Amino acid sequence: RSARGHVHDRPRIGIMGGTFDPIHNGHLVAASEVAWVYDLDEVIFVPTGRPVFKQNKVVTNPEDRYLMTVIATAANPRFSVSRVDIERPGITYTIDTLRDIRAARPDADLFFITGADALAEIMKWKDADEMWSLAHFVGVTRPGYAMDTGSLDVPSEVPSDAVDVLEIPALAISSTDIRRRSHAGEPVWYLVPDGVVQYISKHGLYAGLGV
Ligand code: ATP
Ligand code: MG
Repeated sequence: RSARGHVHDRPRIGIMGGTFDPIHNGHLVAASEVAWVYDLDEVIFVPTGRPVFKQNKVVTNPEDRYLMTVIATAANPRFSVSRVDIERPGITYTIDTLRDIRAARPDADLFFITGADALAEIMKWKDADEMWSLAHFVGVTRPGYAMDTGSLDVPSEVPSDAVDVLEIPALAISSTDIRRRSHAGEPVWYLVPDGVVQYISKHGLYAGLGV
């Protein structure tokens, strides 16, 4: 049954892509809220392999990011984690994520979930014009990034029915700030799930150079 208790002819699947370095409660609220509003049956979290827009940055190794995502989502029966992006060699492009999940789940309607900042970059994505046929896009509000239907620059090339904007409860949390806090010895409790706090500490993830 779906989030609102329906049985759909075609499963409705959300896809939450991200670097998840680390996953935090902002990601989880975004996925949960879209699942509710769009009456999704499941949300698949997809940690990126090599993120295309972070090539000049140090990114934690994929297995750690994958495991933190599993830990953070394990208790929710509607949430799962896919390895498609971390197992595909090379840079991660959303078009490839969509093609892989489409191939695995040809029966489903796909909803790609993205925050305001990422949506603003949307036309830079590889094969952007092909993405609209593979999934419906849901852009969620994020504190610090403008996004209302008037001011958000959904580029004019994007078909008007391909992208929705959804206001969600505001959580001013970013992975960048979690890394900075961990590095500085400041608390990250309640910004990320408890298991992720413990995973970061156990593996000393952001103790070194990285913010
Ligand atoms: P970083 O600071 O390293 O870029 P991040 O917090 O932006 O990390 P990402 O893994 O880059 O997290 O984001 C994955 C997706 O989640 C993106 O579409 C992003 O816009 C969205 N997102 C991240 N944080 C929030 C938040 N607090 N509220 C809503 N959406 C968010
Ligand atoms: Mg980001």
